[in-house]
Amino acid sequence: MTEDDRLPLPGFVEWPNFPFEGDLRVQEVRPFSDVEAPRNGEPGGGECVSCKAADDQYIWTNERWRLKTLAPFTPLPLLYILETRKHIDMHQLDDDLASELGRISVNITRTGEAQPEIGRVHNNRWGDGGEHFHYWYLGRPMGAEQLGGFTLPMWGFILPPIPTEVTDPITEKVVASLERMT
Ligand SMILES: [Zn+2]
Repeated sequence: MTEDDRLPLPGFVEWPNFPFEGDLRVQEVRPFSDVEAPRNGEPGGGECVSCKAADDQYIWTNERWRLKTLAPFTPLPLLYILETRKHIDMHQLDDDLASELGRISVNITRTGEAQPEIGRVHNNRWGDGGEHFHYWYLGRPMGAEQLGGFTLPMWGFILPPIPTEVTDPITEKVVASLERMT
């Protein structure tokens, strides 16, 4: 503990990919609760926005999945969210859906990483905000090692939007790769 009972700063605040500098301190750690607060889509947690969304808000769909982009407001050359059509959470994916998730993810990653604007495509599932299964793909810009690893989502809140002239052709190639999936 530090002098005011705060936990000490972790070493990563000195890493080159950490987006902040200056005087920092760790928040006071509040007591953990015995129960989780309801998420969006759970009883008491508000209406599920994914279930309400129409297909035309997505860049690719099939009978089981829908993929959307955050463009034109994306700070990364590739930033997508994959959702199940059904209102289920990750632990409810059956074997077929789990297999298809893997194949979709490999396709998006392979196609994204083949683009000269992209150095790596990160795959992430958090799920703390909403119950409806959603899975993130974050393309780190080529050569931007300062944005590497777990700090990329933080940089995403900081960097300015990338023009759609850059993101649209990448999205077209990703969608084409998904259309070729059998
Ligand atoms: Zn839903």
